[in-house]
Amino acid sequence: MEMPYPAEARHSTGIYAKHPIAFVRGQGARLWDQAGREYIDCMAGHGVANLGHAHPAVVRAIAEQAGRLITGHEAFYNDRRAEAMERLAHLCPGLERVYLCNSGTEAVEAAIKFARLSTGRPGVVAAMRGFHGRTLGALSATWNRHYRDPFEPLVPAFQHVPFNSVDALERAVDPQTAAVLLEVVQGEGGVHVADAVFLEAAQNLCRERGALLVIDEVQTGLGRTGKMLAVEHFGLAPDLLCLAKSVAGGVPMGAVLIGGRVQGFAPGVHGSTFGGNPLACAAAVAALDAIVAEGLPRQAAEKGLFLLSRLRQMESPLVREVRGLGLMIGIELRRKVAPYLEALLQAGVVALPAGLTVIRLLPPLVITYPEIELVLGAVGSVLKESLPVAEA
Ligand SMILES: *Cc1c(COP(=O)(O)O)cnc(C)c1O
Repeated sequence: MEMPYPAEARHSTGIYAKHPIAFVRGQGARLWDQAGREYIDCMAGHGVANLGHAHPAVVRAIAEQAGRLITGHEAFYNDRRAEAMERLAHLCPGLERVYLCNSGTEAVEAAIKFARLSTGRPGVVAAMRGFHGRTLGALSATWNRHYRDPFEPLVPAFQHVPFNSVDALERAVDPQTAAVLLEVVQGEGGVHVADAVFLEAAQNLCRERGALLVIDEVQTGLGRTGKMLAVEHFGLAPDLLCLAKSVAGGVPMGAVLIGGRVQGFAPGVHGSTFGGNPLACAAAVAALDAIVAEGLPRQAAEKGLFLLSRLRQMESPLVREVRGLGLMIGIELRRKVAPYLEALLQAGVVALPAGLTVIRLLPPLVITYPEIELVLGAVGSVLKESLPVAEA
């Protein structure tokens, strides 16, 4: 198929496997391409657009703030930053300080540094299949060899235990461990929900052995799983919690929420030029208020249950398992998913892979029931075709 914008093809690095479609406009859970064709967005920019596209409150906040003050370093105070910090500090009891940055990997990177700073220890215990970002520290905590291998040697003192293995965690957390770093639902790794006993063991081991519990909610946070934060499903009390993706309604922002056990902060020890900029903070205030006002966590819980149960009823021989929490859903096939994702795109549904064999659905939480029916119709018809691919 022809590339819609040859200049972009010519000047791109090639690190993204691009589809020959350009999205030029969005509204709620809908996207439109350069030819005016409409799609239902179950990708949401990799879980960013929880509020949907062009949410009026976010649009207004950005426009107003852009005309007033876009940039402003944290060396000075700012009205919008104060509002954003206050809201972020209320998300999780006990996490009352906030470090602001600009992406998920930066949030994880900061949390790793804060854990080392606070404990004076080097070690990080993460989980197999975990994904935490692409900068060298966060990459060292990421499991997938495909992302890691070209960049060895990575940061020392990182190790991975099987997700949900309490025994392995018991063996791994020792007097050199600064942090246990986990996702509550592994997103990139295939949509795997943690066992309550595993998370509880991680929290207890950290407390007993002087390590810090870092929860990466970059993908699960802000309503996605049916609670404001996914830790609420498990009554978990982490020491550090990472947010990004949807936190500022689509404007780049990352945040680390920080608890009382984390020590050692002093001027100059870490920082970010763009972190806490007034534009992103204004967008975050609007986004966080809209998520609460519209009850999006509850909506995600209800719509997620509906979507999960309908997908489970499909009983296609191609499907190995359907799993998820809220509107974070994985359909594991017995085949490689790439041709099925392509067929979904042809049917007007933009979905994501999670690994080679899982179709991942991360729609905006504002997706409507009629839109969900369209998605179900497309998934159903695509899974009826046995596309010509090898068994996974
Ligand atoms: C997307 C993601 C990241 C990385 O976020 P970026 O903004 O792409 O750097 C980190 N952790 C998790 C769990 C993610 O889903």
